[in-house]
Amino acid sequence: MKKSNLPNKYKCIGCMTCGDICPKHCIKFELMEDGHFMPKIDYNLCIQCHKCEKVCPVLNKNKGLSTKSSPFASWTNDDILIKKSSSGGTFAQIAKDFILSGGFVAGAYIDSLDVKHILIDNIDDLHLLQGSKYIQSRTCGIYNEVLNKLKEGKKILFSGTPCQIAGLYNIIPKKLWENLFSIDLICHGVPSRKDLFLYLDSHNPKISKIQSFRDKTWKYGYAMTLIDENGCKVQDENNYFFDSFNANKTLRWSCYNCPFKTGLQRQSDITIGDFWGAKKYEDQKNKGLSLCIIHTLKGQILLENNNLHYESIDWEECLPRNKDYFNPSNFFKYHPLRKLYPKIVKSCDFETLKILYGKPESKVSLKYRPLLFINSIIQYIDSKYKHKVVNKMLCKIKKSES
Ligand SMILES: Cc1cc2nc3c(=O)[nH]c(=O)nc-3n(C[C@H](O)[C@H](O)[C@H](O)COP(=O)(O)OP(=O)(O)OC[C@H]3O[C@@H](n4cnc5c(N)ncnc54)[C@H](O)[C@@H]3O)c2cc1C
Ligand code: SF4
Ligand code: SF4
Ligand code: SF4
Repeated sequence: MKKSNLPNKYKCIGCMTCGDICPKHCIKFELMEDGHFMPKIDYNLCIQCHKCEKVCPVLNKNKGLSTKSSPFASWTNDDILIKKSSSGGTFAQIAKDFILSGGFVAGAYIDSLDVKHILIDNIDDLHLLQGSKYIQSRTCGIYNEVLNKLKEGKKILFSGTPCQIAGLYNIIPKKLWENLFSIDLICHGVPSRKDLFLYLDSHNPKISKIQSFRDKTWKYGYAMTLIDENGCKVQDENNYFFDSFNANKTLRWSCYNCPFKTGLQRQSDITIGDFWGAKKYEDQKNKGLSLCIIHTLKGQILLENNNLHYESIDWEECLPRNKDYFNPSNFFKYHPLRKLYPKIVKSCDFETLKILYGKPESKVSLKYRPLLFINSIIQYIDSKYKHKVVNKMLCKIKKSES
């Protein structure tokens, strides 16, 4: 039997669009040894219709990219909404008004220790979608749910990573796009689920629920709130999981060469991120501040909201601290420790993992020092490289504007 032409593990972005289109439901998603999902086809059921290949965004780019994208600083004036959001609550404010006008909103929510996409139409459920969840959300079934609502004439606001948005526009026929609005995120990449589980397993008593990956109610930044098996709150900031995530050591292979964030333009209507390093808005920074990039007229309509404060800014003000907006690659395509991750994770204990993938807390034994030295050189070269890429992009923007 002919095997499928779906992308391999280095290219597949894990958007799960292929699973939703399959008429025989014969694509399942399996967690690989590196802690990322890959589609697996049951060839006993497959009828070789190739629909999965036609919707795959890696094999087919569908929606054209915007022609002009413009950056804004933004935040909601609603104190309750902003507190539950990761940055300025721009998503929550837009979503709230979208629901109040009769629309449905799709986004990621935490299901105990997992993250999935759901569709809501009640503002009482909005808190479920608020806040960043730093693993790849499972999107199985969500595209079909959205498709059915659009066919009923409902308005949909879909929020997700740029690759999920690309999958969305591939599976939804163009004639239904009028009622479809999309928000994507500035996306650093998605870390390994296995890494998250190992970090959670290192707690005693055991963790039974992730309440929030970024809980501003007790600290602005990478401050996690977990619930243990006794129902007690565990507050943990700047922990191993965030260290390895931020050091790009366990990301999905496709995130090191992401095809959906190569320039300033995107497939979505709006992109939202954290406005790191915004000097102009010192007072707002502790409450939460979003960087918002408008790509389309629909995006502009969403942002023009009476409860949102938004101001046009220059690219120079935001790009240097937000390199992940468009920079898809590192100087070294994959971090060497990323390649070794599946093997290391199988054979090493958590303490060793912390030394190699996180930030060592105390003096490490001699045998690991050469590795850590190489690691710091890699990180230094990467940061210089990214700085250069951003400067190049800023020069390009200046040239095109003059
Ligand atoms: C994996 C990941 C990596 C990110 N990397 C960066 C980065 O490098 N730089 C940066 O500036 N910002 C990054 N962000 C975005 C940032 O963390 C905030 O989500 C963003 O600033 C929006 O904040 P907000 O206050 O407007 O809304 P929030 O309420 O914080 O955002 C909620 C929205 O994000 C969506 N969302 C949350 N988690 C996921 C997920 N796992 N998959 C898909 N959608 C999700 C929800 O559906 C919801 O719509 C990342 C987010 C994620 C999930
Ligand atoms: S070829 Fe058709 S039946 Fe086979 S996995 Fe793809 S969508 Fe499913
Ligand atoms: S549709 Fe998405 S999950 Fe399926 S093969 Fe393509 S990239 Fe991978
Ligand atoms: S970096 Fe690219 S491939 Fe990775 S999750 Fe983000 S959008 Fe998807």
